[in-house]
Amino acid sequence: EIVFRSEGLTKVYETGGGQVFALSGVDLELYGGELTVLLGPSGSGKSTLLNILGGLDHASEGRVWFRDLELTGLGDRGLTRFRRDHVGFVFQFYNLVPSLTARENVQLVTDIARHPMSPEEALDRVGLSHRMDHFPAELSGGEQQRVAIARAVAKRPEVLLCDEPTGALDSQTGIQVLEVLKQINQELGTSTVVITHAAAIRKIAHRVIWFQDGRIARIEANETRLEPG
Ligand code: ADP
Ligand code: ADP
Repeated sequence: EIVFRSEGLTKVYETGGGQVFALSGVDLELYGGELTVLLGPSGSGKSTLLNILGGLDHASEGRVWFRDLELTGLGDRGLTRFRRDHVGFVFQFYNLVPSLTARENVQLVTDIARHPMSPEEALDRVGLSHRMDHFPAELSGGEQQRVAIARAVAKRPEVLLCDEPTGALDSQTGIQVLEVLKQINQELGTSTVVITHAAAIRKIAHRVIWFQDGRIARIEANETRLEPG
């Protein structure tokens, strides 16, 4: 089924130098349970799209739906509720609380979520069972990002949106992080959208969407990776 849909999605930024069309009339369908990658040059609109899908930003024109919920019909409070109930985010920088252990960082989310998994399960799913009582400063960059992923998935979100999750990591560590995302996508069925330049993602994505100048330039479906049904 379709998890996100957009019609004519347009985002205009007003800047000193005039208008910037970050997105220009994007029509899009993203499918439930898939891992989708957004590719394209810097400035082509990938982050803007991810932020609008995740309810972090408003569209300028056009419409966006999450299942039956029209995001473009929501105000800030509605978007806040949408994010809280349905979306997990992973960013380039991990934003862990330095004075809390890995387990306690995840617990910040599981304490307030409706149907969370335990912090232990979340950390186990990212391969960090043996690091639960470590503080962020005692963890490598890749491990810190995996804690951030555990924190994002612990509330069992329907969608996981990842903006350059490998951007601060060396390529080998980045591949490990992408493999964790793939495993979560497979095991939990979480619809996942990833912005990354890491070439390895092309092999594990169900769908690759190329952006150019705020428009979709090309979509490649990796049929061999699609689950039956
Ligand atoms: P990408 O993620 O593909 O690098 P972005 O979505 O970040 O692209 O940016 C798309 C375009 O919108 C770029 O030209 C960028 O400079 C512009 N842009 C993004 N955010 C803002 C902003 N807050 N104010 C003005 N322009 C912005
Ligand atoms: P509410 O008070 O119901 O949360 P808001 O004040 O957040 O509503 O927004 C009212 C409408 O104004 C929204 O539906 C949205 O379309 C538009 N809007 C709010 N903030 C922005 C923004 N930063 N950029 C563009 N449109 C916005």
